[in-house]
Amino acid sequence: MKYIGAHVSASGGVHNAPLNAMKIGAKAFALFTKNQRQWHSKPLTEEEIVKFKEYCLEGNFSSNHILPHDSYLVNLGAPEEEALIKSREAFLDEMKRCSQLGLKYLNFHPGSHKKMMSDEDCIKRIAESVDMALDETKGVTAVIENTSGQGGNVGHTFEHLARIIELVGDKSRIGVCLDTCHTYSAGYDIRTQEMYDKTISLFNDIVGLGYLKGMHLNDSMVPLGSHKDRHHSLGKGELGWETFGLLMKDKRLDNIPLILETIDEELWAEEIRKLYELT
Ligand SMILES: [Zn+2]
Ligand SMILES: [Zn+2]
Repeated sequence: MKYIGAHVSASGGVHNAPLNAMKIGAKAFALFTKNQRQWHSKPLTEEEIVKFKEYCLEGNFSSNHILPHDSYLVNLGAPEEEALIKSREAFLDEMKRCSQLGLKYLNFHPGSHKKMMSDEDCIKRIAESVDMALDETKGVTAVIENTSGQGGNVGHTFEHLARIIELVGDKSRIGVCLDTCHTYSAGYDIRTQEMYDKTISLFNDIVGLGYLKGMHLNDSMVPLGSHKDRHHSLGKGELGWETFGLLMKDKRLDNIPLILETIDEELWAEEIRKLYELT
């Protein structure tokens, strides 16, 4: 069974996320547990937490299919000491918020060396940051999102993802989320059955499908290997509906959250409906 949804708005409170997900016929969703563009947010109130859990029950959303996303400001591999400390604090706060909400995942962008460090040094720093957050929390898995490799971001090769996992101490609480747009713009083709199978086997060989905890379903405005991060609505970009048909028929993607981050939220309900037709 496929669990498809979108990264819905939590504006006005986290409890609005499951409500917004219900409105578009989603069986999964992603959300920000705090303002993604600010370092500090008010702690979650007891009332918000209770309402969030209530609405998740009402909409039949299990924590297995909810994939919170961390703030865009967090850079767990930051080359500057001050930014690194701030990022680590903010990430820990987000892990704790997820735990308060009864959630089991936190999806994060690995980080950027901003061309001031080597990939390997940045990766070591990221793994250390993740270890610190895992040490101070319980029950929440840190889910690394693969990147397009834009602007000094690591995590655009399967080897990078594998290396972060290798360095993290608690392998039971580290996972991966593959974003179809990032995968493609990082240089992994998935547009035909043959290329798709090749890319997924490569991922399995290097990282391991056991670590795959979710996917982001986005079409790409930019070409293969362009290392740019530009999402498009499904079927309107370089990947096309055929690619998403391949994913929907892949049993290996059953039971994990499949999340739209496409650019036109007016289309989400229709995109979800079309994806289910393709399963
Ligand atoms: Zn992301
Ligand atoms: Zn994404």
